Amino acid sequence: MTHDVIVIGGGVSGLATAHDLMARSQDVQVLERQATAGGNAISERFDGFLMEHGPSTFNASVPEAIEQIDALGLLESAHDLGPNVRRRYLRNQGKLTGISTNPMGFILSNYLSPAARLSMMLEGFRSRKKDNSEETIHAFAARRFGREFADKVIDPLAAGLFMGDAKQLSINGAFARLADMEQQHGSIIRGILKAKKGSEPGRHLYSWTDGIGRIPQVLAAKLGKRIHTGVTVLKLRKTANGFEVQTTAGTRQTRAVVLATQPHVAAGLLADIDPDAATAAGDITAPPVNVVFLGYKREQVAHPLDGLGYLSTKDRSKIISGAQFCSTMYPGRAPDGYVSISAYAGGARNPELMKLSEVELIAQVHGELAELLGIKGDPVLHRTRRWMLGLPQYTLGHRARVTTLETTSKRNAGLFITGNYLQGVSVANCLTAAAQTALRVDAALTGSAIPTGQQGLRFRA
Ligand SMILES: Cc1cc2nc3c(=O)[nH]c(=O)nc-3n(C[C@H](O)[C@H](O)[C@H](O)COP(=O)(O)OP(=O)(O)OC[C@H]3O[C@@H](n4cnc5c(N)ncnc54)[C@H](O)[C@@H]3O)c2cc1C
Repeated sequence: MTHDVIVIGGGVSGLATAHDLMARSQDVQVLERQATAGGNAISERFDGFLMEHGPSTFNASVPEAIEQIDALGLLESAHDLGPNVRRRYLRNQGKLTGISTNPMGFILSNYLSPAARLSMMLEGFRSRKKDNSEETIHAFAARRFGREFADKVIDPLAAGLFMGDAKQLSINGAFARLADMEQQHGSIIRGILKAKKGSEPGRHLYSWTDGIGRIPQVLAAKLGKRIHTGVTVLKLRKTANGFEVQTTAGTRQTRAVVLATQPHVAAGLLADIDPDAATAAGDITAPPVNVVFLGYKREQVAHPLDGLGYLSTKDRSKIISGAQFCSTMYPGRAPDGYVSISAYAGGARNPELMKLSEVELIAQVHGELAELLGIKGDPVLHRTRRWMLGLPQYTLGHRARVTTLETTSKRNAGLFITGNYLQGVSVANCLTAAAQTALRVDAALTGSAIPTGQQGLRFRA
């Protein structure tokens, strides 16, 4: 039997692509090597706590993704950040500074020097970049807002959000919306002021009572028997009518294939078929990330935890890049009378942390949090997730790599690639990219044209 489409990889990207293809009446099958679908979107409840092993927030400022969440019946049950999220904290030189979530937060706080705040306010008067060269997010921020802003705000943001290095990440990859705002409005501040209410970057972050894992759960339930878990794809071969997919559970024939795996796996599967695409995927690194989830009794923690958490500038004696005050962000993350905190360590800043044992990792993270937040005694609960390959890094040159990858189907009819290393790393970006991929697959299978205005694939932030 020959299927219409086989999607390799059952993370959010693969499931969402398959779901859209199913809705377009294609015979689609998903092959996933893990025992459960969902990829790194894993939410786990234990002892009244809820730990997010991977993503913890859904970026609600991507309108197309909100429509997709709504279509899945998930919008009504989404929670926005809790009322006690009043600040975002930044840690610099051992000190935590709370910045109000209001747009004037940075100007009003004394986190930046008066000269740096003045430089920020002058952003609107600086001319836009004329040439088309690729820039790092650090260079972009320094040019628009000033060097101190880039060092003390963008560097921790890159380490916290992307587990990356601001001096290596590309602005067009990591914060494409900001690059667009400069080009469209001549200024980021003007762009943010003009943004549709609610779509300002990072303003609304959603989750669900059972965590982000709810998204893949709903997708998987809708796909039902079309998902085959515990099946690893070993090799892809082109045939006269499409592809032969060799797996640990036998061989399948299909007219089209969607690669929705991590980039290093895609590189291996593409090696014999499209060496250029294989090289492009293989060049995308994803340094390891450690997630440490800790629970405490409320009275153990002196800090009010009245924010999203904190991001940290680089400090050689510390390993936490960022931490989230989970029980403040959303309800049901800790039992009554307890709080929960998730700390993130590793990434491009500290890839060698994988060498620490679990005991050492927990002890160091707890020690740093205790010092910063005034925590007395040991955590009542701890759990870790160590991703050997964490978030894909959109470093300089990424735009060219993506172009090579997204044109794979032009060189190989019926072969498509989707995932978090193409159009944005967030779950929301993965959903919108999946919808675009499904549209292209369906058009290829039915021989129809892609509706005007929907052909373009581009980075989103
Ligand atoms: C620690 C961490 C925190 C994050 N925080 C956030 C956040 O707060 N908000 C946000 O929006 N995003 C966040 N992200 C990013 C987001 O989680 C991911 O980008 C998104 O979930 C990726 O989905 P994906 O389907 O593209 O890839 P993956 O989830 O990696 O899925 C790929 C799937 O392919 C399968 N696979 C691989 N090889 C094979 C094979 N040979 N055969 C069959 N199957 C195979 C894998 O088992 C996996 O299930 C975070 C990520 C991490 C790691």
